[in-house]
Amino acid sequence: MNISHILATKGHAVTTTTPDRLLGDAIALLSQKRIGAVVVTGDHEGVLGILSERDIVRALAQHGAAALGRQVADHMTRKVVFATRDMTVVEAMTMMTAGRFRHMPIVEDDRLTGLISIGDVVKHRLEAIEQEKQSMLDYIGTA
Ligand code: AMP
Repeated sequence: MNISHILATKGHAVTTTTPDRLLGDAIALLSQKRIGAVVVTGDHEGVLGILSERDIVRALAQHGAAALGRQVADHMTRKVVFATRDMTVVEAMTMMTAGRFRHMPIVEDDRLTGLISIGDVVKHRLEAIEQEKQSMLDYIGTA
C-alpha cells in the first residue's frame, strides 16, 4: 500500500500559512482545523517550512506569552522532509520515526499535493494488517 491510497481517502487539501503570519494566528488555525501542523508556503506554492504544535510549545517555553506575537518564520522548521505519492506507507512510517516528526507534506513535480500525519499512516497500516490476516484466514479456510 502506498501514500496515494491514504490521499485517496483523506483528500489533497493542505492547511497552509505564510512566514510573515504570527504564531497567534497559526495557533488559531491549528485549533480551528483540529490539526497539529501547518505547511508554510511562499508566493508560488513552494514550501518554505513546516510549523507544528511542538514548535509553538518550544516558542512559548522560550518567550512566554510574547511568543504569540512572533512570526512563523522565526519558529518553523526550514529543512522539510517530503514524501511522494508512490512511496509505501511503511517507508513513510520509517522516515517519520527516524526523523522524529509526525507530519510529512506530499510533493509531486515541486507542487504540494497533500499532507499525511503519523495517525493516517498508522491507521492505514493497521487496516492493511487486518486485510492480510483476513486473507490468511480465508486461505486456511479453503485449503
Ligand atoms: P511534529 O512531530 O510533526 O509535531 O514535529 C516535530 C518537529 O519536527 C517540529 O519542530 C516540526 O517543525 C518538525 N517537522 C515536522 N514535520 C517535519 C517534516 N516533514 N520534515 C522536517 N521537520 C518536520
